[in-house]
Amino acid sequence: MPYCPKCRYEYENNISVCPDCDEKLVMSLPPEPDADDEKIFKEWIPLARLQSTQLAEMTLEALRAKDIPAVLQSGVGYFGYVGTQGLSSYAPVGGGYTLLTPKEYVDRAVGEVKVILGEDWEKSKLVETD
Ligand SMILES: [Zn+2]
Repeated sequence: MPYCPKCRYEYENNISVCPDCDEKLVMSLPPEPDADDEKIFKEWIPLARLQSTQLAEMTLEALRAKDIPAVLQSGVGYFGYVGTQGLSSYAPVGGGYTLLTPKEYVDRAVGEVKVILGEDWEKSKLVETD
């Protein structure tokens, strides 16, 4: 089955381009970035505390759309997409999610997250920026 290299969605064989990302599908995906985080990026920086599932999901997707690696951390660990089946037992600790991004991407990620959060950035941020 072909996959989209960008969103990693699996498609039927008769589809060759991802309708969401406009990316040409590939027959096999590279290893899950989440599984190899420690090999690729040594240092993950907590960027912001996001209070709602919707906001957390939106922020994560916006960063990924800009090719900025990011993960959400909740009470059960790291995961890429909130609301995924199998996470029914999950309960955010402290009523929120921590958004983390590799050290190399902090500046770019902050720029994006600031735009998404607007005035909420100041109370959500976990990093000091100018
Ligand atoms: Zn895609």
